[in-house]
Amino acid sequence: MRLVLLGLPTVVLVGYFGWIAWLGRESAPPSRCHGTAVHGDLVHGRRLPYSGENFRTYSLLGYLTGRTFMHGTVRDAVLSGYARVARRRPEFRYVYGESSWPWGGSLWPHRTHANGTSVDFFVPLRTRAGEVAEMPASVFNQLGYSISFDNAGRSGDLQIDFEAMAMHLAELDRAAREQGIRIRRVIFDSHLQPHLFATGEGAKLSGRLPFLGKAWVRHDQHYHVDFAVPCG
Ligand SMILES: [Zn+2]
Repeated sequence: MRLVLLGLPTVVLVGYFGWIAWLGRESAPPSRCHGTAVHGDLVHGRRLPYSGENFRTYSLLGYLTGRTFMHGTVRDAVLSGYARVARRRPEFRYVYGESSWPWGGSLWPHRTHANGTSVDFFVPLRTRAGEVAEMPASVFNQLGYSISFDNAGRSGDLQIDFEAMAMHLAELDRAAREQGIRIRRVIFDSHLQPHLFATGEGAKLSGRLPFLGKAWVRHDQHYHVDFAVPCG
């Protein structure tokens, strides 16, 4: 009896995870997005690999339950952006956050993320000693979203690596253009933006990408990127 009770939820969970993986299969027809990032949906979304040469997902749980789907063209741009950075600075490490459900729609607690054109990226980090570090996302800090940084970009022993962040955005922008889409908007805390623009790569970003500083939640532990994708 105990085995049955333990076994049933496991079967349901494994079945659900399998269904989510099937929804993101590469053999599916091309992705289609509808509506806006606030009111919209997504059909045949794709997801980034769990991890790659210089990146990984923020949470196994978030990944398996399907919170990291996006429009296929956005996925291709994000992958290409990471590959471009890896060629220039192979030591940089990145963690991506939430994007959309495979079917789009409301992704609590985000206000946008409804049609596969919004992607969250956690800030790249270093320790105060200068070692490359990664966002310690877990169920105890809302999968990383409740970690906060001061106006200098510090949180305990961790420091935002603004140079790595600027290079990521610059290469993501190039990759998006190569895919025939654009970065429509970047949301990142207004107190932290000057540090980003003070880096060599970041200086070119302020005129090139539209930055928004104020949003309904503070964007200090992650930067939110909206892509301009033609949606029906
Ligand atoms: Zn977001």
